[in-house]
Amino acid sequence: MWKPPRPWVIERSVDPSAADAATYLTTHVRSQRPEAASVSTGKPAMLDKLRERIHIFCNMGICRDEFGTHNFRIRILLKTLIAPIIKLDDMLVSMRTVYATADIMVEEGPRETIIVPVSPGGSTQLDFNVKPCNLGQTPTADQKKLFANRNNAGSTDIVIYFVRQTIPPLNGCAAFPAGMPGAVVTRNASRWTLAHEVGHVLGLSHIAGEKNSNGKCVTPDFTRLMTGCGTSNIAGTPTITAAEIAKMQSSPFTKKC
Ligand SMILES: [Zn+2]
Repeated sequence: MWKPPRPWVIERSVDPSAADAATYLTTHVRSQRPEAASVSTGKPAMLDKLRERIHIFCNMGICRDEFGTHNFRIRILLKTLIAPIIKLDDMLVSMRTVYATADIMVEEGPRETIIVPVSPGGSTQLDFNVKPCNLGQTPTADQKKLFANRNNAGSTDIVIYFVRQTIPPLNGCAAFPAGMPGAVVTRNASRWTLAHEVGHVLGLSHIAGEKNSNGKCVTPDFTRLMTGCGTSNIAGTPTITAAEIAKMQSSPFTKKC
């Protein structure tokens, strides 16, 4: 008898509570994550097509994970130069929780620790100049060097680099060289920084009306993911507006399930 193919990312038939999401992620999703060795590099376009076919075949138009069923998905890869204070898994749970409210599943590709030498054969660089950190800016030499590390990433995959510091000091920066979608997250980042920076990559701006003409936060809104006044002040799960959701779903880096 013909049976529908099993979805790629589903492992449980019950609807677990958010409380055990972290346990699920470590025991199930991590174990299912394809390992670096299983994916060849150098032909991202071909890999993209293959991944796309596998996805469509296996998921029959629906993405499902611990956070529900979704009509859209993005794929991110986490590359660590130095581990952030908040654990990667905790940032990922926060991100998946808030992206689920935008009907977007966050898939994760192979995770790896990378070394970006200051000079060939030199010691690891940990701090990166991202000035002025505007979307579409001319990339700095540091950004070019960092974002060139796209091992296992397809052309629409978003690569996150965990560094010690940015210059100037920020929690993260989502300015990326053309054709290399990604963001930098620093060691002192909050649990919402990952979700916030990827929000920028998907086309979101900071919310309007929080700052005065001198750039001082006078009326911050810490209920929103895209606050420009510091995600470390967010309490509870932040919100994304309908207009922001529409923008995220129509990003070139977001795919239909
Ligand atoms: Zn921001």
